Amino acid sequence: MKVAVYPGSFDPITFGHLDIIQRGAKVFDKIIVAILINSSKQPLFTMEERKQMILESVKGMGLDIEVDSFEGLLMDYVQKREVHGVLRGLRAISDFEYELQIASINRKLYDKVETLFLMSNNQHSFISSQMVKEVAKYGADVSELVPVHVAQALAVKYHK
Ligand code: ADP
Repeated sequence: MKVAVYPGSFDPITFGHLDIIQRGAKVFDKIIVAILINSSKQPLFTMEERKQMILESVKGMGLDIEVDSFEGLLMDYVQKREVHGVLRGLRAISDFEYELQIASINRKLYDKVETLFLMSNNQHSFISSQMVKEVAKYGADVSELVPVHVAQALAVKYHK
């Protein structure tokens, strides 16, 4: 069974992330969506909220998805979980330099597992969690960017 880890902040999960998960599931039997615990970033949603939103989003897709969290180096987590690949998504050329740096460092740290880059559908390629939060903060409609339950959670955070 081939397993991949898809690491990120997922603050919150978007249709862009879900696009990558669905594409990744064509290549791997199981995907572990791993939320990075980053003490230098102040997330909008708690770890538990982000986990629940991911689980709700993938429910009914018929895919083998686990949601987990990790702290520290991704490659330590990769070895601990004995996965076969790392999934990352590419939006535009702007993602490339950053992703190249991370993948290169990760390969130096542990070269037995490859990073696979997948491209989302054009329709989803401009979506970022950051942009979704900016738009939702001002009360705009985000229904084309995130699942409905995520849009509701954003509305509660910003306008309760
Ligand atoms: P980070 O905080 O490291 O940017 P994110 O949670 O935003 O992590 O994203 C996790 C991964 O998903 C990254 O590889 C990112 O490039 C990718 N990703 C996010 N949104 C999209 C999208 N709309 N299309 C393709 N890939 C995406």
